[in-house]
Amino acid sequence: MPNIEGKLTLEERQGIESRLADKMKMSACPICASSKWTLLDMVVTPTTLRAGGGFATGDPVFPQVMFVSECGYTRYFSGTTLGLIF
Ligand SMILES: [Zn+2]
Repeated sequence: MPNIEGKLTLEERQGIESRLADKMKMSACPICASSKWTLLDMVVTPTTLRAGGGFATGDPVFPQVMFVSECGYTRYFSGTTLGLIF
């Protein structure tokens, strides 16, 4: 579980990087073709929008981790699928 500031622990980062290591090496950035991806240490979530564009508080959230390429292109992965526990 990420800490109170929403940051991944070292163990969580290592677990995520280990699970995706082979896949990330083989996957070049679609923008700059770099195969170097950096895992950011924050957990984020998309927000559910309601009719009219309002935010819904209290709805389930979908924790995601971000990998950023050298050009800034960002990929999101399900934190739950990667073993993060909330
Ligand atoms: Zn790139």
